[in-house]
Amino acid sequence: MSELHKNLINGEWVGGEGKENINPSNIKDVVGVYAQADEQQTRDAIAAAKAAFPAWSRSGLMERWSVLSKTAHEIFARKQELGELLSREEGKTLPEGIGEVTRAGQIFEFFAGEALRLAGEIIPSVRPGVQVEITREGVGVVGIITPWNFPIAIPAWKIAPAICFGNTVVFKPADLVPGSSWAIVDILHRAGLPKGVLNLVMGRGSKVGQTMLESKDLNAITFTGSVGTGKKVAEASIQFNRKFQLEMGGKNPTIVLDDADLKVAVESVAQSAFFSTGQRCTASSRVIVTEGIHDAFVDALCERTKNLRVGDALAKETEIGPVVDPSQLKQDMDYIEIGRNEGAELRVGGNRVNAPTEGYFLQPALFTGVNNQMRIAREEIFGPVAAVIKVKDYEEALATANDTEFGLSAGIVTTSLKYATHFKRNSEAGMVMVNVPTAGVDFHVPFGGRKGSSYGPREQGKYASEFFTVVKTAYTAAG
Ligand code: NAD
Repeated sequence: MSELHKNLINGEWVGGEGKENINPSNIKDVVGVYAQADEQQTRDAIAAAKAAFPAWSRSGLMERWSVLSKTAHEIFARKQELGELLSREEGKTLPEGIGEVTRAGQIFEFFAGEALRLAGEIIPSVRPGVQVEITREGVGVVGIITPWNFPIAIPAWKIAPAICFGNTVVFKPADLVPGSSWAIVDILHRAGLPKGVLNLVMGRGSKVGQTMLESKDLNAITFTGSVGTGKKVAEASIQFNRKFQLEMGGKNPTIVLDDADLKVAVESVAQSAFFSTGQRCTASSRVIVTEGIHDAFVDALCERTKNLRVGDALAKETEIGPVVDPSQLKQDMDYIEIGRNEGAELRVGGNRVNAPTEGYFLQPALFTGVNNQMRIAREEIFGPVAAVIKVKDYEEALATANDTEFGLSAGIVTTSLKYATHFKRNSEAGMVMVNVPTAGVDFHVPFGGRKGSSYGPREQGKYASEFFTVVKTAYTAAG
């Protein structure tokens, strides 16, 4: 039995029942064993964060800068090792794993700088002799609940601003992939965070997560995950007048217009739809193609899709790693069946792939002849499955792209300035991409969606302060 990775509560590593973290590329490979927190430990973690808040909210900026900056540098120095851990537990390829770790380091570095850029405003009052100061303060105890598909980047983009702006944290990572989360908590702890500022509670959503939702002592919850769980976060938070932020699903479109550069279109769609095994909230699963380029585009995309090399996440030649676990694989296979039964044509893939090790390998699936009312065009599949929808012209493409309950990311491939400009203005998504994939975003600018995809202020970049701080307005009479 390998060493138990424990939870961090009030600065102490605390044990619990161990759960194995299994490699989806090779189910005989146990990545590690991780302690499952129970309800009482979760409440202890919340109490520790509450007790630590007054001091941390008044901590010196250099102390915050130092912890965040040290963390960034250790992450950069260990990016190969942490990238391997991430790819082993989640299944994205090693370059993708290292890329995600690097991004986590960049996020910590960015927020180390933000700690030194905290600013307010001084405004003259309408009353003579009175001055108004507007400042931002930490919200309090922040609950952080994260999904399995970005095991280090999403925790980083929530923990870094929370700490930077003087909050204390109770962090619950996805139970499927605790390894990367444990690693960054260990780094932050050793970087010098005072006890109770950051608490880690690994375990099931129904137990640890639910206990967090039911606590009146969490002042804010930032959540990324499915729509169903997001609704629970919202309902529980409203009862306590608690601030909350939700990043949820997507059904992101990419439009390909007749005037597109075919190579750019194929590469952009192949990457958006299938890389990271299609397990990205910003993945493109609806490909809306105008009729003039449709056949040539579909032929080229089929060729590209069929040749994508599926295999062990750590193998050099692999382009597409495994699906994360058996239940996600079943969901993907079920939707492939649903697509067939709805009358869409499965042009490529959709079959399990044999490999030297037992894992959850699936050849990316491409459907054509899809209409936007089919379930495979409306519901988030969260796997390497894409649907091509043929339309007459740009106007129909735009209407189809916006005809969804989601609104996270949307792309267009075109050489027309007129259509690109019109799309940027009229797309109902939070993030719009012109001639670049819908997935793959920068770490220093706002991230988030509209409609059913998101709720609350944006994450990342300087916009993160909106969620992680509260505004205070102070009036002083000069006397
Ligand atoms: P999920 O909703 O099942 O789980 C997310 C987190 O919530 C996990 O940590 C889980 O343990 C926890 N949880 C589950 N039940 C809970 C409860 N009752 N109370 C509190 N916490 C609970 O989602 P998932 O399967 O891990 O992730 C996939 C989903 O995440 C997809 O829908 C995807 O689109 C979405 N996602 C969105 C973004 C974004 O930024 N919009 C980014 C990544 C993933």
